[in-house]
Amino acid sequence: MMKTTKNTEAVESLKFVPLGGLEEIGRNMMFFEYKDEIVIIDAGLQFPEESTPGVDFIIPNVNYLEKNKHKIKGLIITHAHYDHMGAISYIITKIGNPTIYTAAIGKEIINKRHEEFTNLPKLRMEIVQDGSKAKMGKYFDVEFFNLDHTIPDTIGVILKTPVGNMVHFVDFKFDYDLDGKPKGLDSYARIGNEGVHTLFIDSTNADQDGVSLSERIVEKNLEKLMEAAEGRVIVSTFASLLTRLGEIIKIAARQKKKVFVSGYTMKTNLQIAQNLGYVKPEKGQILPLEELNKYKDNKVVILCTGAQGQANAALMRIANGEDRWIQARPGDTFILSSSIIPGNERPVQTLKDNLCRQGAKIYQSKDIDIHATGHAPREELKEVYRLIKPKFLVPVHGYYFKRAANKENGVAAGIPEKNAFLMDNGQVAEITKESFRVTDKTVDAFYVMVDGLGVGDVSDVVLRDRRILSDEGMMVIIATLDKEKGHFLKKPDIISRGFIYLKDNQTMLEEIRHKLRHIVERIPRHQPLDPDYVKSLVRDQIGTFLYNKTKRRPMILPVIIEV
Ligand SMILES: [Zn+2]
Repeated sequence: MMKTTKNTEAVESLKFVPLGGLEEIGRNMMFFEYKDEIVIIDAGLQFPEESTPGVDFIIPNVNYLEKNKHKIKGLIITHAHYDHMGAISYIITKIGNPTIYTAAIGKEIINKRHEEFTNLPKLRMEIVQDGSKAKMGKYFDVEFFNLDHTIPDTIGVILKTPVGNMVHFVDFKFDYDLDGKPKGLDSYARIGNEGVHTLFIDSTNADQDGVSLSERIVEKNLEKLMEAAEGRVIVSTFASLLTRLGEIIKIAARQKKKVFVSGYTMKTNLQIAQNLGYVKPEKGQILPLEELNKYKDNKVVILCTGAQGQANAALMRIANGEDRWIQARPGDTFILSSSIIPGNERPVQTLKDNLCRQGAKIYQSKDIDIHATGHAPREELKEVYRLIKPKFLVPVHGYYFKRAANKENGVAAGIPEKNAFLMDNGQVAEITKESFRVTDKTVDAFYVMVDGLGVGDVSDVVLRDRRILSDEGMMVIIATLDKEKGHFLKKPDIISRGFIYLKDNQTMLEEIRHKLRHIVERIPRHQPLDPDYVKSLVRDQIGTFLYNKTKRRPMILPVIIEV
């Protein structure tokens, strides 16, 4: 009651909505809305989960943005990691193809990926960098600042709005100089001194103590390993860890080693980084794989993807002896320079076994510091809170418990507990000059699944089928039906996958055929047989029969050919 006359800000509040990235790793996307204007930050994808077999990945739900696309004034992409930009091509036309603001490397990588979508319009891009300013609509003045991460050109965002400055620290960590001093803190202090209303910040490592491992130490350890290697050195990491790849190329140059690159994405990304001057190999240092055998083993460094044990990546092909150019052999040193993403432990174990059987030496980041994370741990987060001095705090990026840990970090650094908020995907927050309030309003934020190039066409039914297939297997019954006479013309073919091995189950096979004959024979004869009716009878009755025999429910696919 009090508010209606005096406080018009209730109507004029700024809305903040996270569309993804708060209950999972990946699918990062959020937007701000003020009156009739919207600014979006990031459009990432999430890799599939165990409960979504066969789905390529999951993207944010943009239903709300689609309905309000006329309001969208810009899409900011903070850096070129898939969990922040991988969904662009799937959603961009839905949201009206707004201008994308991103740094140089982001522009190249996004465009390269977008080329695969030949039927989509070109992306409209504006390159920004540390210190750039952009006006998005009447209400949003945006400034960008440099953040250290595992890919160059990662930018943080200062969104100057009518209610105050919203600052977004996306994926970041501190980078330390040779004396162990973190770089770039003065720019954070400057941002803080301008006054920050709400800080949105990376929580990926918020539950890890201490500070991040310096890239300098990683570099030193890699250099030692590469120096000690008697034969070839094969380094596997993410294709997007461009900073690390640049370091390895530098070390290789110092050791007079040639560099060979395996894997399409790795090659493309390196080329982009090279074109922009972020990676500077010596002339003739990077060579095509065809020339691999022209060089002595101890003069060879191979860069490849697949340190997570991904089935289709170069490293797995090498381990399985399926790679065209590279076969593992005694004397090889394999360096897996990335931490294992939870869930990938098993495939990585198999990968290591396969390489080890072939006489290779394997080093992994848990044995020796050859991987630094890209995300700030506790002490670095607290330092940011002290410098930025936000009134309100919203930890983003990461599961609830990570964000809860990040809230604690904020409270430890002096932010009042009541001012730190743990939101869920799709929740709407209303922000006024003096307040931040998580409302009970929501927008659609449930999964959208991408399967091949189809978006959102994988429904729950499809997923249920995939789960049945993977748990119970399937049985295909192919029968030719004489519609007029009402019987099968020859013995139905029965194929089974993942259910029972038919050769060992001849009796059951005969029983199924017998049952099939019975099913059609018992259908009254006064009209021609309806194949769909026959199919559903087969599915039900053979299903029950198999369940009684085996206590399993495979998927049954009757194929009825009518003559
Ligand atoms: Zn990242």
